[in-house]
Amino acid sequence: MLLRGGDLMLPVNEFFETIQGEATFTGTPSTFVRLQGCDVGCPWCDTKYTWDLNHAPPSPLEDILGKQEPSPSFAAVSIEDLVQALSQTQPRHLVLTGGEPCMYDLTELSSRMIAGGWTVQVETSGTEPIRIDPRAWVTVSPKIAMPGGRTFLSEAWQRANEIKMPVGKPADVETVLSLIAEHGRPALIWLQPLSMSKKATELCVEAARQHRWRISVQTHKFMGIR
Ligand code: SF4
Repeated sequence: MLLRGGDLMLPVNEFFETIQGEATFTGTPSTFVRLQGCDVGCPWCDTKYTWDLNHAPPSPLEDILGKQEPSPSFAAVSIEDLVQALSQTQPRHLVLTGGEPCMYDLTELSSRMIAGGWTVQVETSGTEPIRIDPRAWVTVSPKIAMPGGRTFLSEAWQRANEIKMPVGKPADVETVLSLIAEHGRPALIWLQPLSMSKKATELCVEAARQHRWRISVQTHKFMGIR
């Protein structure tokens, strides 16, 4: 958690309007706020530029709002300023992503946005306590035995509205079955083919048929948007 003058500041790496491309909210116009910081260390992570909180002095929010290319620069933004910036956008669905957004207490931001008529979703690895408004939608992508050595938390599984599991090999399907055996079955399970490869997709199709799970493909990539 970043503090400035006693106020919570969130490290915002990206802030952009798009269409949510994955899982339950697929197709929903959304504003994405990508927070900086993650120590999970997934080898295939496509947002490695968000990992380092000490990369550079924080940038002004204006620089982040105009950012076109991924980079490790971020702005330390107060909840008040973030709510103000969000009020200028068209969508009414906020996606908090990262990095690992649950490194931070998201309760005040999510509560204020929901009170203002928004829906709020967080995408998390399940390795941090989830501090967010109880009405927020929680998407957990379990990251197990990653190089960062973080532990997957049972409370994340219990809180999840949906599980979105990246699948690249049969062991990933076995991991879902192990998690269900250990923690119980959550409301929704989505399998997401890693890199949308043919092999991973076939694996997901087979497992979804067998276990009556769902498949999430990264539809934003088909739409040519981020
Ligand atoms: S948890 Fe997410 S942001 Fe962190 S390393 Fe894994 S994929 Fe990347």
